[in-house]
Amino acid sequence: MLIVMNHNATQADVDAISEVVKDMGFRAEPIPGSERTAIGVLGNHGYVDDTKILEMSGVQRVLHVSKPYKLVSRDFHPEPTIVDVAGVKVGQGCRPVVVGGPCAVESEEQIVKTALFVKKCGGDMLRGGAFKPRTGPHTFQGLREEGLKLLAIAGKESGLPIVTEIMSLDNIGLVAEYADLLQVGARNMQNFDLLRELGRIRKPVLLKRGMSATVEEFLAAAEYILAEGNEQVILCERGIRTFETATRNTLDLSVVPLIKELSHLPIMVDPSHATGKRSLVPPMTLAAMVAGAHGVLVEVHPEPEKALSDGPQSLTFPGFEHLMGDVKRLLNYLA
Ligand code: PEP
Ligand code: MN
Repeated sequence: MLIVMNHNATQADVDAISEVVKDMGFRAEPIPGSERTAIGVLGNHGYVDDTKILEMSGVQRVLHVSKPYKLVSRDFHPEPTIVDVAGVKVGQGCRPVVVGGPCAVESEEQIVKTALFVKKCGGDMLRGGAFKPRTGPHTFQGLREEGLKLLAIAGKESGLPIVTEIMSLDNIGLVAEYADLLQVGARNMQNFDLLRELGRIRKPVLLKRGMSATVEEFLAAAEYILAEGNEQVILCERGIRTFETATRNTLDLSVVPLIKELSHLPIMVDPSHATGKRSLVPPMTLAAMVAGAHGVLVEVHPEPEKALSDGPQSLTFPGFEHLMGDVKRLLNYLA
């Protein structure tokens, strides 16, 4: 439930309502806005009787929100959230960011070379998996802690913030030490214990959409992180499973403007995992920017034909450089 206050409501009105909400056994979360304050009511399961509240001073109206998410919704929080990743700002009103890097960290030479190239082309952050969620156990699983150390070297040499995946609760402390932005992969979107713990640490989180997750499930997953106190969450569309097999997944670009309507959180797009095909990555990157994405996540590798994972969807260096030129021209045109 959301209690919307009159624009001339006083702090005393807000405090009195918060008290009544607490007496009803719920949590009250005042949400100050530029025009008026709203009070979110949390902890209820089902309809809350609003008779008493509607009679109180300063109350304009009461909205009964039946969605499984509240804290991530625009209704609760009309102002856009800007996520700060080691100084790089992501969200409404900021220049869309480009996160570039290989699927997995493979060697010092590979990751440092890529980081310097991404930086040279104007990329904003470096991606690279150290803990890799692979479909089968007999494939390359990532360099784990060694991979994190190599990311730290690459981050230091290039000056780029590090985006890397956290797969399990077991190594959350370790990964959080190295990552500037903690990525939750599609396969873990509903790992609720992991999400809760990420809500308790003070590091931004990149939450990828599950392979078969509806928008409501996606936002409800983000709600787990916000419910524990961490608002620094970026959502990422990375394609969903459909009947189509010509592409690795089906890129659901319509969620970009949709999520901007429903939520205050930034939304990025990963055209690499969405398409699985190198040639489709540049056009879908540009399409994501036109759709209003706050950033993109693009896989790039110095030698994609030798990549230990996701070579077919990784851009070559010349391909990435060319794309970055197109991105700059597009953003200038859109500005
Ligand atoms: C990744 O970005 O490295 C990755 C594994 O992507 P996803 O979780 O979207 O499959
Ligand atoms: Mn990958």
